[in-house]
Amino acid sequence: MRIFEDFYVYPWMSTQENNANTIFIDGQVPTLIDPGHTHLFRYVVEGMARDGVSIDRVKLIICTHGHPDHLEAAEQFDKGVVRAIGKKECDYLEEEGKELFLLTGSRSPRKAFGLLLKEGLLDLGDKQFAVIETPGHSPGGLCLYWPEKALLVSGDTVFYMGVGRTDLPGGDMDLLGQSLRRLSSLDVEFLIPGHGDMVKGRQSISKNFEVLMSEFFA
Ligand SMILES: [Zn+2]
Repeated sequence: MRIFEDFYVYPWMSTQENNANTIFIDGQVPTLIDPGHTHLFRYVVEGMARDGVSIDRVKLIICTHGHPDHLEAAEQFDKGVVRAIGKKECDYLEEEGKELFLLTGSRSPRKAFGLLLKEGLLDLGDKQFAVIETPGHSPGGLCLYWPEKALLVSGDTVFYMGVGRTDLPGGDMDLLGQSLRRLSSLDVEFLIPGHGDMVKGRQSISKNFEVLMSEFFA
């Protein structure tokens, strides 16, 4: 579904199975964020086709973090498509991050990440994003902030009325609280989490942060 020009969200709606919301950003560097599970990826391809966008446009895949429900389908892409993930998350995938793939019966990543992201600017040519490192749900998770639209892609750090779980390998509740505090200081009009509903409007988003901070990190 097209949110505005060049920006598409494919929310995962089913409660029968877990999968991430996927985002496609068109433009000079067509970018797919969190492709999700391999066996569910056809829903993204179909959704994009309905919007008149071919999956073949994708040049860059960014995974907000290294959990199978966000990353597994990144393996499907071949030559000419760069896979990106946080630098710390790449290290994590070599170590305890592997456990989740075994536990969920997912295929762990075999192809190399061509781009390791760190805190700072992500230049997509006609669009500039800020990479914000947000450890807590996983050690090297990141969020993407688009200042021009006041839009935050928040991965599994913050959801509508919820935060990412910290009981998985590499989770850390204190770090998640610090990450949440940082994100809450941004000017955000569109919050697009890794799972569940989007949140629109500055007031609703501030309220969401406020509730979560007081509920989990008071
Ligand atoms: Zn996750």
